[in-house]
Amino acid sequence: MEKQLEELKQQLEKQCLINQELQRQNKDLEQRLQEKEKVLQELQSQYHDLEFPSQSGNEIEPEFRKSRAAVIASEPIQETLEITSTRVKKTVSETSLIVKAIQKNDFLSRLDDEQTAMMVDLLVVSNLKQGDEVIKEGTEGDSMYIVAAGELVVTQAGRELRTLTIGDVFGELAILYNCKRTATVKAKTAVRLWCMERQTYRTIITNKSKKKREELMGFLKTAQTLKELNDVQLSKIIDSMEEVKYQDKDVIVQEGTEGNTFYIILKGEVLVTKNVNGQQKQIRRMVKGEHFGEQALIREVLRTATCTADGPVTCFSIDKELFEETIPIEHLELFDDSKVLQEAQAQDKTSPGSTLTFEDLVPVLYQEGRYQGDPVTLGIGGFGRVELMTTLSHGKYYAVKRVSKKHIVSKRQEEHILFEKEILKAIQSDFIIRLHAAFKDTRYIYMVMEFCSGGEIWTKLKEVGRFEESIAVFCTACVVEAYSYLHKKNIMYRDLKPENLMLDVKGYVKLIDFGFAKEMVRGDKTYSFVGTPEYIAPEIIKNQGHDFAVDFWSLGILIFELLAGSPPFSSSEPQRIYAKILDGVLKFPPYMSEAAKSIISKLCRPRPGQRLGNTKNGIKDVRHHRWFSNINWHKLRMRQIDAPTIRLIRKGPCYINFDRFPYDQTKADEEFSGWDRDF
Ligand code: ATP
Ligand code: MG
Repeated sequence: MEKQLEELKQQLEKQCLINQELQRQNKDLEQRLQEKEKVLQELQSQYHDLEFPSQSGNEIEPEFRKSRAAVIASEPIQETLEITSTRVKKTVSETSLIVKAIQKNDFLSRLDDEQTAMMVDLLVVSNLKQGDEVIKEGTEGDSMYIVAAGELVVTQAGRELRTLTIGDVFGELAILYNCKRTATVKAKTAVRLWCMERQTYRTIITNKSKKKREELMGFLKTAQTLKELNDVQLSKIIDSMEEVKYQDKDVIVQEGTEGNTFYIILKGEVLVTKNVNGQQKQIRRMVKGEHFGEQALIREVLRTATCTADGPVTCFSIDKELFEETIPIEHLELFDDSKVLQEAQAQDKTSPGSTLTFEDLVPVLYQEGRYQGDPVTLGIGGFGRVELMTTLSHGKYYAVKRVSKKHIVSKRQEEHILFEKEILKAIQSDFIIRLHAAFKDTRYIYMVMEFCSGGEIWTKLKEVGRFEESIAVFCTACVVEAYSYLHKKNIMYRDLKPENLMLDVKGYVKLIDFGFAKEMVRGDKTYSFVGTPEYIAPEIIKNQGHDFAVDFWSLGILIFELLAGSPPFSSSEPQRIYAKILDGVLKFPPYMSEAAKSIISKLCRPRPGQRLGNTKNGIKDVRHHRWFSNINWHKLRMRQIDAPTIRLIRKGPCYINFDRFPYDQTKADEEFSGWDRDF
């Protein structure tokens, strides 16, 4: 018995030891698990920062201010320049080297076959000696290059970055617009380069796009079903249509099946056959410019014949569903009656600027802080500096935009500035900044605007990282109202971004900066490259010609940026941004609501004719989207909604909601060419 007891005791002790050991191991595991979780959390937050970065901070030096500059290329296009006169013959191996180089390049590889083929045709050869400089850091670029032979070295601020060899592409951003070179490229050996100038590229591609549209118009006009439509409507249909490629023997349309697509043949030939007593009988052969399936656009039909590709075929096509969204657009009704009322009211508000003189204006000075005593600068844009001013007589505040005339001339922005002033003078909307007066002297032009004391949406967004949905909805609704007003007046805005949205004292949003706005006839297209990289629509990058639809694209980008803190297509390198835009893949963060994702996807459709806002009901379709279900549009127009943005506005000196900028004492050179006669 005693022995048994002893054994049991020993067993118990052993068990206790095992238990202790297990507990220790358990603790160890738990600790390791906790550590792993911490690492995981860190990685997740790093990943999130990478995907949706956001910065905060108020007193930022302008050089650190990451506000994004707009870009533009609107050099005149030579209507007569044809590709035949500029084509340079290439051997098969030269062509293959160029094509491979293009395919390897992040941005160029996104261009379509036609553009690539054109590029191959346009490149000209240039031979360099060792030591020759191709690109100089800081200068403005006008060409892109492909290395055909030899080696070049890339340096930045004297530091060697990399070596370029055969098949490498460099300077490609310059084919889109006039950009500052960020590095120097020098020949390390004797070098042979393929080069292409922007001016040639843009001219050829623009003329080609124009010709293609004219041709498509011609094709559409031969369709019986569409004969009642005018040019504006036909142009809209073209914007909705998509290119589809078929291989030899592909069946495009099958007899007896339900049809819902209309096709125009752009390239190749199509065989039309019919089943006659169990045998396929050829009825006809269709060639470029001919169309089929038009019945499908207006009624439910079964296909009465089979259409098969005979060799490779490219068609331009549109589905019934999309067609219905595009047409009929009898009345491009973008407006509501209440708008008229608002305009009448707006005109009532007497403008204090009517008697304002240049001499009346005095600068407002910083009252404290490191710039105490200096004039207050509200913002610095790509073109000018905006200062806070007041008058001694009535003490009202004004935001005065001052732009160097020399700078305007050197950037060929004379027409843009004149138009900006003309537009702003004519505008009477509560959602757009008012221009009270305009002045000029020998160095500058001045635009005296209403002061928006709430600051930039951009600054607020950087402060809080990202907006709550209700704030984003409200801000966007104000922009929709501004768009509605502008588009009704046939003006496109073309530079939407949080930097160009200001909050007024009530927290309502106003559009500023009309440097890129343009008046356009409905149905027309324009071919300049304008906007801010992250917000540029794909048709601009592709030089296909653009219109009002670009404003809806940028509206989608804005919603995304307000909700996520950064835009969907971003990178430190513009060409990478453009590559992403052309890919068009939207990656939504997990916290974005279904309604938000839906409206963004609909606004950011690659084909301009399919974008929300640009379909048959115009801007009404945007207002009616469920993301805006809490907005009472009438009350918004009457400014009767309590703005949720008011929470973002700080109280204090009148410049408290703005970043601070050091005073700039340098004076711009004088300019006497006389372009500003009418300013
Ligand atoms: P961009 O590079 O965008 O073309 P820009 O030189 O045309 O710029 P604006 O965008 O008109 O200049 O103004 C620059 C900045 O000045 C704005 O981002 C804003 O901070 C400030 N600002 C402009 N207008 C006003 C205003 N009416 N009230 C308050 N601040 C303003
Ligand atoms: Mg601006």
